[in-house]
Amino acid sequence: MKTTSAAVWQNWAGTARCRPSRILRPSGDEEIAETIGAAARAEKRVRVAGSGHSFNDIACTDEVLLSLDRHDRILEVDREARTVTVQAGITLGRLSEQLASHGLALSNLGDVGYQTLAGALATATHGTGARFGNLSTQVRSIRLVLANSSVVECSPGSDPDGFRAAQASLGALGVFSAVTLQCEQAFNLHTVEEPARVEDVLASFEQRIEENEHFEFFWFPHTNRALTKANNRTDRPPSPKNRGRAYVDEILLANRVFGLFCRAGRRWPPATPRLARLVGGLLSRSEEVDRSDRVFTSPRLVRFAEMEYAIPRASMADAFHEVRTLIQRSGFRVSFPVEVRAVAADDIPLSPSFGRVTAYIAVHMFQGVEYEPYFRGVEAIMQGMGGRPHWGKLHFRTAETLRPAYPEWDRFAAVRGRLDPERRFANDYLDRVLGP
Ligand SMILES: Cc1cc2nc3c(=O)[nH]c(=O)nc-3n(C[C@H](O)[C@H](O)[C@H](O)COP(=O)(O)OP(=O)(O)OC[C@H]3O[C@@H](n4cnc5c(N)ncnc54)[C@H](O)[C@@H]3O)c2cc1C
Repeated sequence: MKTTSAAVWQNWAGTARCRPSRILRPSGDEEIAETIGAAARAEKRVRVAGSGHSFNDIACTDEVLLSLDRHDRILEVDREARTVTVQAGITLGRLSEQLASHGLALSNLGDVGYQTLAGALATATHGTGARFGNLSTQVRSIRLVLANSSVVECSPGSDPDGFRAAQASLGALGVFSAVTLQCEQAFNLHTVEEPARVEDVLASFEQRIEENEHFEFFWFPHTNRALTKANNRTDRPPSPKNRGRAYVDEILLANRVFGLFCRAGRRWPPATPRLARLVGGLLSRSEEVDRSDRVFTSPRLVRFAEMEYAIPRASMADAFHEVRTLIQRSGFRVSFPVEVRAVAADDIPLSPSFGRVTAYIAVHMFQGVEYEPYFRGVEAIMQGMGGRPHWGKLHFRTAETLRPAYPEWDRFAAVRGRLDPERRFANDYLDRVLGP
């Protein structure tokens, strides 16, 4: 088994870091089980880190940290059932590439493909689309290595409560070794990005999310400009932007120029609103047809801090107006857009979209700019509307206020008590948000 000598571990955003006593890179069920057994004998707690793409300390530990970056192979593809069984350390990007070579695809994805499959499932990572649940809803069974080093297959048939708890587990139940996912036949998406007045987008949001399979918008604070993005399945062949245009749109404008603008705003905060209007003026319409995963995800080179809240979809416009008013009244200088998406209801106990048709509102701050007063202000608005925070993004909630927001909280707690009675997989984050 590969070991990395103790080092500082840091997440992508630079908002969480820790110094694990050991970092181990097991591959295969046996090695994973061995590491857990050895940690138990040494009375150490264990945490698995994915790609470190959570914004909070959910993956952090000062004890034993596992990385499954060597545990990332496709194990089985059933083309008829359109399912795939895959080792859980694979990234969503690599999984999408491999699926494409088998003529398959995931039905929906978030904005990026850097996350590991297990990491994305642990926090109920989602994309957008009123008729699409988060990624965890695509899981058909999970192979878990438990605290006692046993390996169990967890499915709706074998352990219904355990399965639903594991679909969004915050890494609290055991180590995900392999996952079987429902896929669909590979498809292309026609994507249209278009600037619009934010008032018009808000007024037509319900209609747009019903008319488009995947609709979202980004609002640029200090302006009335929004960028809408609508993705719909098409039989048309790929007509991706030529490489020059793709470079200008995705790297130069969305990352390099935007990064320059953010750095200027960080240096001269009062200039942020004027810079935002400038950037808003650069937005233009674009469209293309490409393979689904290439449309859903794009490169993110500018680093930032983020908080995201799931609220009842019917409250979206009110919540949005309150966030806008908060920014205007407080004097916060916000260079990053506010992102609004839609997700279908599900029945996963710790999913933020449990039992309700959901809108997600995400707020961001450029790396190195103080985010806490802004995020706390937004959190107060969202909490007042029954909001549930994204488990992998920054938030300030604790078990005390989270428990009433989740009708099946105690059911999850019962599964946790059964599968990890000694809290082998706990860390400070879990002690805070789930209780010790
Ligand atoms: C640029 C960027 C874009 C993003 N876009 C979106 C988006 O569009 N939609 C969205 O919903 N979220 C998004 N996120 C958030 C991200 O999807 C989640 O935070 C996700 O959990 C990160 O996965 P990871 O592999 O980096 O896991 P980590 O952040 O490293 O870990 C997350 C959790 O997974 C657990 N874990 C990891 N592997 C295992 C395993 N094998 N077994 C058990 N537990 C495990 C960890 O212990 C931890 O609890 C984005 C984040 C970034 C930085």
